[in-house]
Amino acid sequence: MIDTQPTREEPKAKPQIEDADSLIDTSKMSNGQRAALELTEAAREVTQKSSFASGLFMGAFDLPESFPTQTSEDRDQGDAFLQKLEMVLRDCVDPDEIDRTGEIPQPVIDELSNLGAFGIKISPQYGGLGLSQTNYCRAAILLGSHCGNLTALISAHQSIGVPQPLILFGTEAQKRKYLPRVAHGEISAFALTELGAGSDPATMKTHAEPTPDGEAFILNGEKLWCTNGTKAGVIVVMAKTPAKMVNGKPKEQITAFIVETDWPGVEVAHRCRFMGLKALYNGVMRFTNVRVPRENIMLAEGKGLRVALTTLNTGRLTLPAACVGLAKRCLEITRKWAGERVQWGAAIGKHSAIADKIARMAANTFAMESMTLLAASAVDRDKHADVRLEAAMCKMWGSERSWEIVNDAMQIRGGRGYETAASLEARGEEPIPLERFLRDSRINTIFEGSSEIMRLFIAREALDPHLKVSGAVLNSKLPVSQRLQAAMKAALFYARWYPKQSLPLERFQVRGVRNPALRKHLRYAARTSRRLARALFHAMLRHGPKLEREQILLGRFVDIGTELFAITATCLRAETLMRAGSSNSAPTDVQSLVDYFCRSARLRIEETFRGVRQNNDRVGYRLAQQVLAGKHAAMTESESSHD
Ligand SMILES: Cc1cc2nc3c(=O)[nH]c(=O)nc-3n(C[C@H](O)[C@H](O)[C@H](O)COP(=O)(O)OP(=O)(O)OC[C@H]3O[C@@H](n4cnc5c(N)ncnc54)[C@H](O)[C@@H]3O)c2cc1C
Repeated sequence: MIDTQPTREEPKAKPQIEDADSLIDTSKMSNGQRAALELTEAAREVTQKSSFASGLFMGAFDLPESFPTQTSEDRDQGDAFLQKLEMVLRDCVDPDEIDRTGEIPQPVIDELSNLGAFGIKISPQYGGLGLSQTNYCRAAILLGSHCGNLTALISAHQSIGVPQPLILFGTEAQKRKYLPRVAHGEISAFALTELGAGSDPATMKTHAEPTPDGEAFILNGEKLWCTNGTKAGVIVVMAKTPAKMVNGKPKEQITAFIVETDWPGVEVAHRCRFMGLKALYNGVMRFTNVRVPRENIMLAEGKGLRVALTTLNTGRLTLPAACVGLAKRCLEITRKWAGERVQWGAAIGKHSAIADKIARMAANTFAMESMTLLAASAVDRDKHADVRLEAAMCKMWGSERSWEIVNDAMQIRGGRGYETAASLEARGEEPIPLERFLRDSRINTIFEGSSEIMRLFIAREALDPHLKVSGAVLNSKLPVSQRLQAAMKAALFYARWYPKQSLPLERFQVRGVRNPALRKHLRYAARTSRRLARALFHAMLRHGPKLEREQILLGRFVDIGTELFAITATCLRAETLMRAGSSNSAPTDVQSLVDYFCRSARLRIEETFRGVRQNNDRVGYRLAQQVLAGKHAAMTESESSHD
């Protein structure tokens, strides 16, 4: 169970703020790049203990003993809530109607609120259900299988809206004031994005100036695409506050404020509408001279980006959980259709081109669920657990795979996949809403950290141990004496570390895993983790400080690390399921799922390693710059000029 302590809390492993200047050479960066880097570096949380996923990039395959299972008490609590939630979804919610009208009926919101769906993780002390992260993820799986609009409403409210940062960073007074309100259904939102500030918060314009008496701040600015903004009673708003002098240099400050929407000066300037998620209550929020009391600052002045990034660290687990639900629903639709639709003398599922898709859909769904539940269980063991990498991997991998799954399901349904549910129903066919699923799920690789940004984020964390050891050596801004000293230390470290990455894995024990096939896959993962560490190290030697700009190369390392995490999570979970004999399918079925997944992941990994050695990244980059510079104009003209 999540235990919300009554006092303000800091992560147990005290975060340290590292100076980006000492780790990363910023001398050749543009002002904009440097500002963005310094700001996000200052907001990075640095914990003492590395997580399993970060170890993968250093050749440290620190295999968990087993896949953590829920205690029966925790599972029962989750089951009781999920039963009620399922009943409401079945009896009161029509997702196609919500999609068609672009509105969620108020009685549906009231029913969900009565169930406690707006305070799933909030402690009962503050009026919530106090359920665990695992049960919250299970709820997201259920919601994701049913209605994307409801999932977004509930998730934006409590994964990134007011509850999560308040649980993590709120003062006792803030918790007492706001948690009961949001637990009982007052909708909340999170406002970071602006017209000019998407992935890069350093360009934010919204600002808050302290009043002369220092008791409050006057907030001005406009936030874009604030999900739930048009219905919210309370919003976490990120704003720039006056810069502070640090080491004689002005440092940008971003502060998180709790803002109530009925305060003078807060308005919804526009309700945004999208390709999917038609009933998203998403808006442009305008703040004009809004007086925000100082006590509504979250964590501390200047710590806003840390509030945002830390909130997203666990908040990001909801999205892949919802993707699991969606993937399961697609698989269910596909199983039925591919079994009963006969073309060319056989059910389409018997044709190998379709069977190939079905196998991939099933295996990836199992992997996605295993990864998400493994990360969620780490949060349940310690709510300040460092799951930054795991959550980012789940978000990136889960949103990309679920998009493929919906796309494959649509392909398998053929023309019926492309037809709307209403049209199918009107001509007497089952109203299967794949077209809605496809529209609703496209956003998943864009918001809450786009796939590109997730790869950069994971790469930054993967490189962190190396930057700590050798960042100063490569940093041309540092004095020569300091660089020499750092070089000695780095030489000592790598003289011990590097040979270890090539030694045979004699002492590696697959503790707790009996199944021989799973042991084999886990041994592969352990070996490959070392190979990944060596490849990353070689890339550092080859590119030096410029490695940071090699996004595609770094992306390949991130993809390999993520596949290794996926192999580990699936094998551990399969072992637990096989032992307990508690899976829905027969134990051997779990084995065939995990075995197919691991074999496929291994093929992808080998292919990606090949891409590290041999690629045409540079040629592609040059071509893209030519296109941007206006060359190859014929390629952008609809009428060919070659005639
Ligand atoms: C439906 C919806 C709901 C949203 N809800 C919220 C919300 O509740 N609160 C909130 O604050 N925001 C919200 N957002 C904003 C969302 O998080 C942003 O869209 C996202 O952060 C990306 O920003 P952007 O769209 O401005 O893209 P940009 O940052 O302009 O990026 C455009 C493209 O370039 C890529 N890119 C950017 N920088 C780099 C780089 N350095 N290297 C490589 N590639 C890069 C991106 O990955 C993307 O593909 C929402 C957006 C939508 C559409």
